Amino acid sequence: MIGPERFLSQGEGVRSLLEQIQENRANHAVLISGEAGTGKWTLARGLAAALLCQGEGTKPCGRCKACLQMEELAHPDVITLEKGKHLTRADEGKAKNNITIGDVREMIRQTAQHGMEGSRRVVLVKHAEDMRDDAQNALLKTLEEPPEGTFFFLTARRPETLLPTIISRCRPLRLRPWTETEMEKVLAELGTDAETARKAIRDADGSLGQAIRLAGDEAYWAFREEVMRDWMNCPSRSEILKVSGKWKDRKDEGEAVFALLERIFSRMMRRGLRVSQGEAEDALSEQWRRFAEKATAADYVKVLDRISLARERSLRNVQFQVIVEQLILDLMEAVSI
Ligand SMILES: [Zn+2]
Repeated sequence: MIGPERFLSQGEGVRSLLEQIQENRANHAVLISGEAGTGKWTLARGLAAALLCQGEGTKPCGRCKACLQMEELAHPDVITLEKGKHLTRADEGKAKNNITIGDVREMIRQTAQHGMEGSRRVVLVKHAEDMRDDAQNALLKTLEEPPEGTFFFLTARRPETLLPTIISRCRPLRLRPWTETEMEKVLAELGTDAETARKAIRDADGSLGQAIRLAGDEAYWAFREEVMRDWMNCPSRSEILKVSGKWKDRKDEGEAVFALLERIFSRMMRRGLRVSQGEAEDALSEQWRRFAEKATAADYVKVLDRISLARERSLRNVQFQVIVEQLILDLMEAVSI
């Protein structure tokens, strides 16, 4: 797990909160907000670990039983509220898209039962916006009078959609997107080699969590290479049949292919000439580099249109082999501007 100390570059808010935890004077409720991929959930878990850590020195130590349990999110004194993962059987199987009032009530029941002297309990609420107003109102009551030793960490992408009364009860902590340099530093500290880190950061589009996941995901890199080789760099028309034959039974991977191609071309469009000069798109063939030198926005839009047309046809159940052949042809045509 990435410890909360990695978030110090995010500013004074994180630093003072961590200090307060070390000094046993932390706020009872913190609302962590920020765009997707800024590490809200990771930070919430790290702060919970800091509160529950039994080790010596700076917390979380990362080694004690409590810290190790937090890594698996399996600490007995942590209650997690997350959409679709209900705390009671009554709500199981229903309300997949929200945190129900039943979940909040069950959490309150559990925190009230907690009676071990001096011990702490942490409630994590992932994507607090997934609570409807009734659930938020139920939570509000316990935020106003939190049981002794109970700490709440809420995360939200859009905190402005929460009830103002919830927001006013929480200490706000806003995370901003990470810079590439900051992400490189974190990945290096996690033991990722520089080359993999650079590629993962490029493909993660500003999301630290995604960059960390991608860095360790060998299947992703193999898939990416295969897609670029087969779909973008098919050597000649006579090879298309061979490639489409290889992909014809892989319709269930179609969306992953289209999404990957869209990300590659959108990034090429944003970076323009720098791509052709070799920056950050190392797997591009010579042909596509030349394309990047000459292409206008209209050329990129045409390519992106072709990809979304392929997706549409796939949704309409056009034979996948036909879709593969057409898109490869379209890309061959596009690259030869
Ligand atoms: Zn510890």
